[in-house]
Amino acid sequence: MRKIIIFDTTLRDGEQAPGASLGIREKLEVARQLQRLNVDVIEAGFPISSESDFKAVRLIAEEVKKPLICALARAKKEDIDVAYESIKKAKRPRIHVFLATSNIHMRYKLKKAKSEILKLAIESVRYARRKVKDVEFSPEDASRTDRRFLAKIVEAVIDAGATTVNIPDTVGYATPKDFGELIRYLKENVPNIKKAKISAHCHDDLGMATANSLAAVENGADQVECTINGIGERAGSAPLEEIVMAIETRSDYYKAHTSIKTKELYKTSRLVSHLMGIKVQPNKAIVGKNAFRHESGIHQDGLLKEKTTYEIMKPEDVGFTEYGLVLGRHSGRHAFKERLKKLGYNLSRIDIEKAFGLFKQLSEKKKEVYDEDLEAIIEGQMFQVPEVWVFKSIQVLSGTNIMPTTTVKLESRGKIYETSASGDGPVDACYRAIDKIVKIKGQLLDYSIESLTKGKDAMGEVKIKVKFKDREISGRGSSTDIVEASALAYINAINKLIFKTRKK
Ligand SMILES: [Zn+2]
Repeated sequence: MRKIIIFDTTLRDGEQAPGASLGIREKLEVARQLQRLNVDVIEAGFPISSESDFKAVRLIAEEVKKPLICALARAKKEDIDVAYESIKKAKRPRIHVFLATSNIHMRYKLKKAKSEILKLAIESVRYARRKVKDVEFSPEDASRTDRRFLAKIVEAVIDAGATTVNIPDTVGYATPKDFGELIRYLKENVPNIKKAKISAHCHDDLGMATANSLAAVENGADQVECTINGIGERAGSAPLEEIVMAIETRSDYYKAHTSIKTKELYKTSRLVSHLMGIKVQPNKAIVGKNAFRHESGIHQDGLLKEKTTYEIMKPEDVGFTEYGLVLGRHSGRHAFKERLKKLGYNLSRIDIEKAFGLFKQLSEKKKEVYDEDLEAIIEGQMFQVPEVWVFKSIQVLSGTNIMPTTTVKLESRGKIYETSASGDGPVDACYRAIDKIVKIKGQLLDYSIESLTKGKDAMGEVKIKVKFKDREISGRGSSTDIVEASALAYINAINKLIFKTRKK
């Protein structure tokens, strides 16, 4: 059976999803989990796009040794130089150069003629090959590119040294039949095609990313580019978990396999969802909360008699776990550490100690600590930008006929600040008090609260979006007290703002 190379671009294409941006440590955490999932290639970022992206790619290249580490670059020397700088310490580095080849993109975006594009593609692949042995080239918007021209470019970049040629359906325009035929056409019409691996990169604008990627596999593609939970630009990219489970479950049909450790899929999905703050819809294939839940009596009855009556995959094969009571006040470090591992976190000793302390505090307030609570602890309080402002305490005075007043105590660089304010409600009053202390004024654009677990003592998670002058920043906070969770979310946003404005 053929092996399909799984190229994960969660940290590059996925991170381009609106509101999905990750910090450097979070990116490393995702990369480590992708390594455990056993992906073949990690596209770690687009290093020239920002200093922090560069640093994240460099850190991943240094720390994550099993998969190939890939960095994206436009067909420009300076991009390729920066990409190389970021991945040169990787065990197996790859530079991925892209250049648009469709008439629409060449004419309106690049303002270049076909001959110039061809020359640029060849030059940039040659230049990248002087730096690394493994070079991927993507003719952007390939699915809308003139086929004869596309074949010519593919042949030319393979001659120039490209080891993988990726065919992107950049705007999600292709249909499965179209896209399969395109791959077949290239396989049959590019004379040197066997010298390179052919890859597919599909977007989900018409809900066909998975189908298109699989059509590419059927027609001879060697590699599929995908992201965890299908996150990505606009409607997203092809979801890794769907591609992999389709190939594995229907290996009788695709005659192919992957190297993915499917038992890690669910964990990876949850980790990415939590770190990026993008929820997975409950009915999402493979990793949705309901993906393996049967409600109908007839189905349940069938399942009890024989699982395969209604189950084409075993939930445990994708690492699906029911949430249950996990930890409590008496749980020790070992159980705690094991649980974190199960949830996909591999923290350093120091971080485990810090997380354990936070868990102990929570278990004093709450008898039963669920997986979601642990995730909230880790993501809400550990993977954070430096805490210039630290929440200390809050006191709320509120009721039917009184003006809500909140007193907030914060700490910054060893100094305690305390002030009160009143407002339209306790949260508004709390935010006004924080504004007074930090002397930054924010305008709340979006506020949502969700209970993470069941019961009256459930943890509430507050997610907000705040506008500070011309910047929109998101914040998260969780606590068993919702005003406190609101305060934590706001302080989180302020610390992010300080961190972001300082770096420039
Ligand atoms: Zn893409």
